[in-house]
Amino acid sequence: MTHDDLVAKYPKILSGSGYPGVGEGWLPLIDQLCSWLQFNTDMNEHPQVKAVQIKEKFGGLRFYVENATEKQYAVISFVENMSQHICDVCGSPGKIQGKGWISTRCEEHKDK
Ligand SMILES: [Zn+2]
Repeated sequence: MTHDDLVAKYPKILSGSGYPGVGEGWLPLIDQLCSWLQFNTDMNEHPQVKAVQIKEKFGGLRFYVENATEKQYAVISFVENMSQHICDVCGSPGKIQGKGWISTRCEEHKDK
């Protein structure tokens, strides 16, 4: 799955400024999150969430949205926390590491 595939799958959430500016290793995580968000919106339980910025900060995923409900924010922050255990290059188990520039990486990608 590429970044463009993901945007095409969830255009209501990710098009425009919500384009995911993170490594490929986190795309499955964002896929799961968007799947939950869009499903709940389509079942009319929640307002449509639109991402305003998706990026990496201090080794973790940041998924910024507007007009989300408390429940939506809770799921988003759960996924953001999960990202701190997943290599953002390959999606393997990883941990936050690095000096200066911090990122979440597996053993193989920690120095890249
Ligand atoms: Zn890796």
